Amino acid sequence: MPWQLFRLGRLQRKVLLVISVIVIVPMLVAGWLAAEWVSISFENRLQQWIVDAARANQNWLQAYQNDAVMLGRVLVDDEAYVANIERNPEAAIPPQIRRISQELSINLIQLYAPDKKLLYSSLPVEVNALWERGQTEAVLKVVRKQKTMLAAVGITPIPRTGKPRYYLVLGSLLGQDFTEELAQLTGLKARLYYREGKNYFDLFSTPGEIIALKGLPAQAFHRLEKDKKSYYSQEAEGGLYRGLYTPIVDPTGRVEAIMFSGLERRGVQEVLTNQVVLFLFISLLGIVIGVLTGLLLSRIVVRPLQYLRNGVMQLAGQNFNANVPITSNDELGDLAKAFNAMAARLREARDEQTQRFQTDKLAAMGELSAALAHEIRNPIGIINTSAALLDRPENDPVKRAQLTRMIREESLRVSNLVQDFLQLSRHRQPGFAVIDPAQPMERALEIALAGTKPVRVHKQFNHDAVKIKADPGLLQQAWSNIFTNALQAMHGKKGELVLHTAVADGQVLLSVQDNGPGVPAEIMPRLFEPFFTTKEQGTGLGLTIAYTLAEANGGRLQAAPPEGSGARFVMWFPVCKGL
Ligand code: ADP
Repeated sequence: MPWQLFRLGRLQRKVLLVISVIVIVPMLVAGWLAAEWVSISFENRLQQWIVDAARANQNWLQAYQNDAVMLGRVLVDDEAYVANIERNPEAAIPPQIRRISQELSINLIQLYAPDKKLLYSSLPVEVNALWERGQTEAVLKVVRKQKTMLAAVGITPIPRTGKPRYYLVLGSLLGQDFTEELAQLTGLKARLYYREGKNYFDLFSTPGEIIALKGLPAQAFHRLEKDKKSYYSQEAEGGLYRGLYTPIVDPTGRVEAIMFSGLERRGVQEVLTNQVVLFLFISLLGIVIGVLTGLLLSRIVVRPLQYLRNGVMQLAGQNFNANVPITSNDELGDLAKAFNAMAARLREARDEQTQRFQTDKLAAMGELSAALAHEIRNPIGIINTSAALLDRPENDPVKRAQLTRMIREESLRVSNLVQDFLQLSRHRQPGFAVIDPAQPMERALEIALAGTKPVRVHKQFNHDAVKIKADPGLLQQAWSNIFTNALQAMHGKKGELVLHTAVADGQVLLSVQDNGPGVPAEIMPRLFEPFFTTKEQGTGLGLTIAYTLAEANGGRLQAAPPEGSGARFVMWFPVCKGL
């Protein structure tokens, strides 16, 4: 079934092509625009979402540092605490503040001399990179039990104004679970690059490895470090993510770390943000819709036309039983109904014609039989009477001879009649050949003239190389009947025949004129009637046969007005084209 969809007629293919072009071209343009719009707006939405989520990550880290800075200030502002700080900064923390610091996960307390010499540390950690003067927050790399970690710290000078005597550093140690925590918080992959000198390093992404932040263009670093602004990249982290790099800036304006929050590039969003893929998808959809619409429309419109075409072809092939299915109730449906009505009328007309033909044939047969019976009855009556008289003993030899002659003459008449009649009724299928039209005429003349008195023959042939398609044997028979009549008409005088040919209007004309007495005007209308004769021994079938044979060869025979005296008979045949 489905492959029948693709067996389309020429008209159907044209309709399909036109509709496909009308639908597909705008669909491609619309597809390109839609793909552009969808990809851009989806990319924008993704970016918006990543930026929002990254802000939450940034706030999370900032919160650690803010807490440490706040706690540091509270402690440093407490004179009792500062008084005892040198002995043990940890032990000197008032109990209620200690509880708050535990709540805030501030587990690192360090005291430094102004020259950054470590005086005290609550945990046995090595701090590799130190802060700079004036800096109040930092993300520092620390090594604890040979394990590298980061610490988000707040740095508070003591006293807070003037020349510092100590630096109190409070902070939270951040392990690998920190970035995992962030990922759970926002659904984005988080990476924290701490600063060491001029470079930034990631500790947590690959366990045991320190990875430098690279692959960012120079303007990205400029934006992050100089402008202190976030940098968004659609192809971040080696093209594997789209995400946001956010500088973590302390209150003095120093960039101490860079936090990356990103979404891995894969899955549906890659399709929705890829304009080319979207375009191909939408175009494909458009083309399928266009082709299906075209197919449907072409079937709706063209199918009834195909039915009509089949119907017309059947009628042309004389199949009057042709019937077109009515598939719709519209103009095409009306056309199908009109066609069916026309076919029905033609059927009726054909039936009537066949019936009339049958009746006419029977009537013609009746007439012909009556005429034949009439023609035969006379000679048979004469033969019968003569035979009866022949038997009488009183007949003298002269009378006997006369009666015998009459019997012979009348039986010859009957024999001629039967022979001509047989010729007329013989249904021979013409064997057509392409011939010179004058050829059957000349051959018939040759045979007719053999053994007769000499006759002068004038040939005026102007048909050049024109040919006709005819059965030469049948035409020769027709001409021979005409020549027989002509010779009989010229009997008793010096005979003269004019044979003429010409070509006009795609027809070739052949005529024979004798110098006999001509055909009297009153018998002209009956000339081709069967059994019409003015001759003693005539059958009245010669011209009827010639007429029938000319028609059987696609031609016509007529008695034409003679040029001068005599009788003139003309035949016309269509010129055979393509030769
Ligand atoms: P048939 O020759 O047996 O009479 P045709 O049908 O050949 O029958 O001719 C019918 C009649 O037409 C003839 O009897 C004759 O009167 C007339 N006719 C035919 N040809 C000629 C002719 N060339 N000249 C004069 N009359 C002719």
